[in-house]
Amino acid sequence: MPKSELIESYRKMLTQSTRNSSAESKVPHTRIDDGAAIQQIYYFGRKLGQGSFGVVIEVKHRETGKKWAIKKVNREKAGSSAVKLLEREVSILKRVNHEHIIHLEEVFETPKRMFLVMELCEDGELKEILHRKGQFTENETRHIIQSLASAIAYLHKKDIVHRDLKLENILVKSSEIDEENEMKLNIKVTDFGLAVQKAGGSESMFQSTCGTPTYMAPEVISAHDYSQQCDIWSIGVIMYMLLCGDPPFIASSEENLFELIKKGELHFNNPIWQTVSEAAKHVLQLLLRVDPAHRITANELLDNLWITGETHIVQRPFNVLELMKEWNNSLDIGEVCNVEEELNSPSTALNQDNMIEEQESPVSSNGNSEVGAEIETESGSSKSCTPTKQVNKKKNNTSALPNGTLKKKSLPPKPSIASPAGRSVSPVSNSRRNQDSQERKGETEKSSASSSQGLGNKNIQKSTTTLKTKKKS
Ligand code: ADP
Repeated sequence: MPKSELIESYRKMLTQSTRNSSAESKVPHTRIDDGAAIQQIYYFGRKLGQGSFGVVIEVKHRETGKKWAIKKVNREKAGSSAVKLLEREVSILKRVNHEHIIHLEEVFETPKRMFLVMELCEDGELKEILHRKGQFTENETRHIIQSLASAIAYLHKKDIVHRDLKLENILVKSSEIDEENEMKLNIKVTDFGLAVQKAGGSESMFQSTCGTPTYMAPEVISAHDYSQQCDIWSIGVIMYMLLCGDPPFIASSEENLFELIKKGELHFNNPIWQTVSEAAKHVLQLLLRVDPAHRITANELLDNLWITGETHIVQRPFNVLELMKEWNNSLDIGEVCNVEEELNSPSTALNQDNMIEEQESPVSSNGNSEVGAEIETESGSSKSCTPTKQVNKKKNNTSALPNGTLKKKSLPPKPSIASPAGRSVSPVSNSRRNQDSQERKGETEKSSASSSQGLGNKNIQKSTTTLKTKKKS
């Protein structure tokens, strides 16, 4: 009997044996002696990428002609903690089925290697596309965030928390350009190595510090009990980055970064934010609320008017001179504006005065603007009102760079993603983490391996690299 038929019958047998016993029954998982046998089923093509523990290769099914991506991992080289992550990923992927979550077709295992046959995402990482484009328009961003929200709402409904949502973990299967010349990306959430499924549906259940600093929620940093709401925070970071190209919180060290995140002050200083509607900024404030209990949930996000496209967006041409002229004119107007009206009004994007105001005053994600009233239109719990415009407020220790990053006055200029500069991120230094440095050493294998790839910015790279430490109880 040819090898491929042998594998096929073996696979059927194994699939049959697991089918009755668990929810993880639909993905064939086949143990074979020699990985070379997989080549009887698939033609191996180009290398798609280098992962932390193995390589990802494009393959074509010999019979169906369908293309897939195979992630091939050498267990010995990867190490036991990496294999644990991979097994966790496989276990979660077997339980999910959603249009915006990477589909796992089948798994092969040899004594030395694991092969994950996954849906092929020909357009690569979202991070790379953002890097090439600089930023996405509001409509493009909305389309991505809608898909992401739908995937995360699905996971949270199944009590699964991803815990490492970031641009690198969002792959693009395909893209099209619509009649307005805007990109519509078909995204897939991937990398479930840190994902967990909570048992029994308890509200908050995690105490380990894991994830990637730039995208890490305040409650994760503090290692308070936290729940699925940490994914929502990461969606906020992703949305902010899609709209302006930079993360919302940037600092010279990981410790400073964590302080900024815990404060949660959002800045919209980059001129690009003047092309973004108040409704979108309001969604960012809902996503990046420091208190997870007050943060919007995935389901609420799906119903949000900006997400559903019910707020009107007029894309303004990005022309700094014109914007400055408008800003000048706007200094004469001291109006108080009702945001609720604004969010629902077709003139939202045309009224730029509040944007100028926002540019000058950081908005705390605790829900409080430094100069303004709380805005909470979607939840309906409080009336919305932007404050009377105030200008010339940059008189404190921190200043805001024009590109939207927070800069302590004594710090060197901020590196941009496009042209990375050498800011170093100090190692995590709180005592809780030190206590567990041994364990962390092992668990961050993936972290150090992956920091050899990416955009080359050590700081951003480090703070966008996955960490996993466990809290000592
Ligand atoms: P990591 O181990 O760093 O999480 P992966 O091993 O998952 O990374 O993937 C490494 C690279 O391979 C990714 O950066 C991506 O470019 C590519 N890749 C991974 N999965 C797929 C896929 N399903 N389709 C296309 N490319 C993929």
